[in-house]
Amino acid sequence: MKNQEDKFKKVISHAKEYGYIFQSSEIYDGLSAVYDYAQNGVELKKNIREYWWKAMVQMNENIVGLDAAIFMHPTTWKASGHVDAFNDPLIDNKDSKKRYRADVLIEDYAEKLNIKAKKEITKAAKRFGDAFNEKEFISTNPRVIKYFSKRDEVLKRMAKSLENEDLADVKDLIVELEIVCPVSGSKNWTDVKQFNLMFGTKLGASADSAMDLYLRPETAQGIFVNFSNVQKTGRMKIPFGIAQTGKAFRNEIVARQFIFRMREFEQMEMQFFVRPGEEIKWYEYWKEKRLKWHLSLGLGKDNYRFHDHDKLAHYANAAADIEFNFPFGFKELEGIHSRTDFDLKAHEEHSGKKLQFFDHELNKNYVPYVVETSIGLDRMFLAIFSTSLQNETLEDGSERTVLKLPSVLAPTKAAILPLVKKDGLPEIARKIIDDLKYDFNVAYDEKDAIGRRYRRQDAVGTPFCITVDHETKNNDTVTIRFRDTMKQERVKISELNNLISQEVSIRNWFDKI
Ligand code: ATP
Repeated sequence: MKNQEDKFKKVISHAKEYGYIFQSSEIYDGLSAVYDYAQNGVELKKNIREYWWKAMVQMNENIVGLDAAIFMHPTTWKASGHVDAFNDPLIDNKDSKKRYRADVLIEDYAEKLNIKAKKEITKAAKRFGDAFNEKEFISTNPRVIKYFSKRDEVLKRMAKSLENEDLADVKDLIVELEIVCPVSGSKNWTDVKQFNLMFGTKLGASADSAMDLYLRPETAQGIFVNFSNVQKTGRMKIPFGIAQTGKAFRNEIVARQFIFRMREFEQMEMQFFVRPGEEIKWYEYWKEKRLKWHLSLGLGKDNYRFHDHDKLAHYANAAADIEFNFPFGFKELEGIHSRTDFDLKAHEEHSGKKLQFFDHELNKNYVPYVVETSIGLDRMFLAIFSTSLQNETLEDGSERTVLKLPSVLAPTKAAILPLVKKDGLPEIARKIIDDLKYDFNVAYDEKDAIGRRYRRQDAVGTPFCITVDHETKNNDTVTIRFRDTMKQERVKISELNNLISQEVSIRNWFDKI
């Protein structure tokens, strides 16, 4: 646990020190759970967005993009259920005065049971070696059975109470499980209350005629209200999808996990419209497809797991999260939801306009069903950044900090470094930059010894360092150093563009999807 905390602190300080993420309005002591992306962060974020956008829109003939406004007609949020039901159950600890999400306290408790069971399994696997039968062990070991069944029982009871809006029982569960406040260590809890997460604002100049609006809490509704516009003007046939990236706003109760849970964040969502009855097939399809997208980045298969929902949102008939192993444990990174025809039907009812599709093959009109994939761009950023940040001990015993970002996403692809600041080497380096900058973000650095410059580029995540030395003047060659292996090769200047292109080309990365 201590280790995890240290790692997370390192991630946060590295993100600041190397120009990735700053606290919002830091000179005024910041704004809670709001962050700014700095000079490198903005590039990484843009590259992640593009990696998603291309995988969705460019690679799929039947998916198109959209950029709907953040402000929407207020009835949108009545129809979608957000006005009445976009609540989180909150609970306060009377001693620390800290506020928590009651469901998160219980989920954390369940996760601890999970970890205990997993520890038993790992211990036994070590003890029994090759003869270990994990399945049998899980189904017969009394301790593992106890941990797993307690975990399931707790989660089931919570899901049921939340569904029935029985907040008293959620409180009872917290009391029965003897959950303590992580800050004060006390069990002195208030009752559980519902809290609406939408931010309100006003449109219009005069106080009397101003209209109450909400900042959108998800991008999805901008897609639903445009369903017919896109379908007709794009002559789209079911099944088809609409993809969108953009800001969303939620007045989160607890926002203490850096960019994992923010009050202003960015989503990348795709709504896939299908024939009623075919939604589960497509739900399975997108679950698999999205996991493959994640795996293509090479952050490690073991860092992902599916979590199928017991507690379904009011609009869903199947839902799963792709969870990621963040520095503070496995947590939701992306949601894949089978949203039925709930949203389109609700907008039909509230707007009086038809949101249907005429299916020529079936010769009938229907309201399509929807399968959604929804991922937080900032969470994806954190997943990539925290996993890429590594400390290595080198052969000579020295340490290096290296940010092993997937090269396709790295903010700067190459740094061009003249070995010395004289003898015409800086001029050659500048010429290389002038050629490469049309295709890649490149940087120039001539300060300090070359070793220090390599370390700086390692820490900021630049995959290639290109060094111009005296030999360059004789034969037009430079050394290219690879961030991850630290290997160096001598190559012709004329080959650089091709070499970098190969490594960062989306075609090669998408091959794995
Ligand atoms: P959580 O249970 O963590 O609050 P959620 O289930 O409410 O998340 P969704 O409504 O499914 O989240 O939103 C889709 C995605 O948007 C999430 O998987 C997550 O990546 C991202 N997301 C949601 N809320 C936030 C937030 N406050 N800050 C950053 N990203 C968020």
